[in-house]
Amino acid sequence: MAWDFSTEPEFQQQLDWVADFCRNEVEPLDLVFPGAAYSRSPKARMLADPLKQQVKDRGLWALFLGPELGGPGFGQLKLALLNEILGRYASAPVIFGTAAPDTGNMELLAAYGTDEQQRAWLYPLLNQEIFSAFSMTEPQGGSDPSLFTTRAMRDGDEWVISGEKWFTSAGARADIIFVMCTNGMFVVPRDTPGVEIMGYPPRHNHIRYNEVRVPLGNLLGPEDGARVLAQRRLGGGRIHHAMRTVAQVRLAFDMMCERALSRQSHGRVIAEHQMVQQAIADSYAELNMLRLMVLWTAWTIDNSSSREARTQIAACKYTCAKVLREVSYRALHIMGSLGTTNLTPLQAMWAAAPTMAIADGVDEVHKVTVARNVLKDYQPHPGLWPSEYIPAKREQARKKYASLIDADPELAAWADKAAKSPARG
Ligand SMILES: Cc1cc2nc3c(=O)[nH]c(=O)nc-3n(C[C@H](O)[C@H](O)[C@H](O)COP(=O)(O)OP(=O)(O)OC[C@H]3O[C@@H](n4cnc5c(N)ncnc54)[C@H](O)[C@@H]3O)c2cc1C
Repeated sequence: MAWDFSTEPEFQQQLDWVADFCRNEVEPLDLVFPGAAYSRSPKARMLADPLKQQVKDRGLWALFLGPELGGPGFGQLKLALLNEILGRYASAPVIFGTAAPDTGNMELLAAYGTDEQQRAWLYPLLNQEIFSAFSMTEPQGGSDPSLFTTRAMRDGDEWVISGEKWFTSAGARADIIFVMCTNGMFVVPRDTPGVEIMGYPPRHNHIRYNEVRVPLGNLLGPEDGARVLAQRRLGGGRIHHAMRTVAQVRLAFDMMCERALSRQSHGRVIAEHQMVQQAIADSYAELNMLRLMVLWTAWTIDNSSSREARTQIAACKYTCAKVLREVSYRALHIMGSLGTTNLTPLQAMWAAAPTMAIADGVDEVHKVTVARNVLKDYQPHPGLWPSEYIPAKREQARKKYASLIDADPELAAWADKAAKSPARG
């Protein structure tokens, strides 16, 4: 019996612990000291480090990495189940060592880094001694990598990087930046002379690389390998986003249901109005469709590779944006005027939905990927009619019964009558 939707009891115990821990420890930290989990100030570390230690003691730190790199090697499916909880809380991913953009960058270092590169950057990232950013998008265009112009020129035992990047998340506070050049992926310490962080946007930085010199050993993977590395990195990042989005959608759905049972209007609790029921029923179906699609994709990655799962990952990416938009809107709407304020998470969640449709690649590009890959398994039909054209299929099927039809006039009349009908049967 290969189909099974259950979670192993031992891992379910871990998930139950995570749910309690997030509710009782992580959420209060977020509410009272927002940003503490990311901050390097000693006071913030005093608050957040003991929580991170509890996660480590529990064997849940950096769940996506294998044991050789300090993670438990549980894989993507278990990470998806964990992220269904973590995605509800702003700082839970960093408390569990699974926060973007570091996770994707660590995966790159794990896959392509030399021993020396892993020593220099992977282990410090893993321990959150340093933080990183990923610099790919350029001001003149993000969706089409052939428009990128940032380039590294070799000069003796250094690479000299020149170019301009846009929307590098957390670039201003990163210690190292993974810079995608037309001729390779480079690791650039942020304080290298020539790295110029522009004044805005504040969180997703506009960065100029003005003849930035790095040692030869800062090239990650092969020369000219940047696109392959970027695809690998973004594939992981996208599915992790989708996992956390399941958590957000679930939060919106929970809020919608609670409110529907709590408010009265026109003589009844609003959950008894059919249009509210429709919102709940549609949201329930969409949440579970998204969830199962994400889990299936995570399972596929675990059982093959993120490359093999790229069509599924792309489909998860635009589906999670759509489901977040729809369900958070319905939840906000059912919350009424309160939903339009920032006194619940719903307003921010709905406002974030368009972002989900852009970050890590716009919906259109992912849809093109899905359509192209799906169409590889199809052929055009020969001749004028589609292969499901009923008269042609019936004529073919009739040959199977030719001897019976020839021998029995009653059966022949039946078959002749069916052949005259344009519809099936
Ligand atoms: C919150 C957030 C965080 C981000 N973090 C990072 C980061 O850390 N590092 C980084 O490098 N980048 C980052 N990005 C940038 C992101 O990767 C780009 O925004 C994205 O790839 C789209 O590029 P663009 O913004 O230049 O839009 P464009 O490429 O200009 O696209 C704009 C619109 O044009 C249309 N379009 C584009 N291409 C096609 C097509 N092929 N078919 C049909 N329509 C099309 C779509 O409607 C699209 O929305 C982040 C973005 C966001 C929103």
